[in-house]
Amino acid sequence: MDKYNRVYNFSAGPAVLPIEVLETARDEMLNYQNSGLSVMEMSHRSKTYDEIIKTAEADLRELMNIPSNYKVLFLQGGAHLQFSMVPINLLKNGVADYIVTGQWAKKAYQEAQKYGKINKVATSEDKNFSYIPDCSNLDISENADYVYICENNTIYGTKFHTLPNTKGKTLVSDMSSCFLSEPVDVTQYGLIFAGVQKNVGPAGVQIVIIREDLLRDDLPDWCPTMLNYKIHADNNSLYNTPPAYGIYICGLVFKWLKKMGGLSEMKKINENKAKILYDFLDNSKLFKGTVEKSSRSLMNVPFVTGSDELDKKFIEESKNAGLIQLKGHRTVGGMRASIYNAMPIEGVSALVQFMKKFESENL
Ligand SMILES: *Cc1c(COP(=O)(O)O)cnc(C)c1O
Repeated sequence: MDKYNRVYNFSAGPAVLPIEVLETARDEMLNYQNSGLSVMEMSHRSKTYDEIIKTAEADLRELMNIPSNYKVLFLQGGAHLQFSMVPINLLKNGVADYIVTGQWAKKAYQEAQKYGKINKVATSEDKNFSYIPDCSNLDISENADYVYICENNTIYGTKFHTLPNTKGKTLVSDMSSCFLSEPVDVTQYGLIFAGVQKNVGPAGVQIVIIREDLLRDDLPDWCPTMLNYKIHADNNSLYNTPPAYGIYICGLVFKWLKKMGGLSEMKKINENKAKILYDFLDNSKLFKGTVEKSSRSLMNVPFVTGSDELDKKFIEESKNAGLIQLKGHRTVGGMRASIYNAMPIEGVSALVQFMKKFESENL
């Protein structure tokens, strides 16, 4: 535990934030940089706020090396709204191909059915989504407007380590739970979206990175104005009141990431953290990981004891030891440790120490 008596929070989302960010937010809460008011009370059209949102965007662009022909949008509605906005905005031929590797991709796939002919070109549902299928030579539709993936499967703990071969079609990625965890080549994607409550900031902000040629003037009349990417792009995410305070916190996290050395440094840190946990799981006599090794996520690590009773006991006792939110998603059972950017290595070590103790007491 830290000096604030805080627990180690392994929640999948809303999730842990960097302590330095929370401290800055605290210090700036009542009077943001001598503006005389809190960011929460500020007009989103004010000069002070304009600086906040512009700096946040600039820092994100720098962190991800986002090319100038991509727009960065700060939106609302959660990742769930992107399940609708993506097909509404991107379907021209009315055809899209989805790779269904978990609950979130499945929901996106189902939602998209409302808007066109949506194909499931690959899935790992046969083994309860415990692996990423080979996507090197899929039957991509000739006239597909895009190919959709959920890059890191928050619930099942799998991650695409190689992007699918889309055969030239636009790639759309739900990066909610791996956003900013490692460098990505933005040019490989037409659209990236992420709900920030996993790895970036407080719930309520949705970041969309979209290649400019995908913004359209010819959307169907029934498309609600608020669901039109181009409207938000043309207005620099200020068409209406944005989730202003949440964007400010995201901006603080971007600054923190820059201070940490950027995304390649974060990747190393995340690999080290995940290795501690995976190495333990691979050698444990009681616990085991539920995912194929080659598909493992650096962010979400599900594991089980093999006994529902012991799983329950573990979750209960870990909570009492200050390690919270280790219960697995209801569709997988067992445990899940989410170890996002802001989870310190000490938290992962504390978890492994606790698992060792639990193992010796219950084997
Ligand atoms: C959490 C999550 C979602 C759903 O996010 P909401 O903001 O609750 O709509 C979608 N996709 C992924 C990968 C997630 O982790």
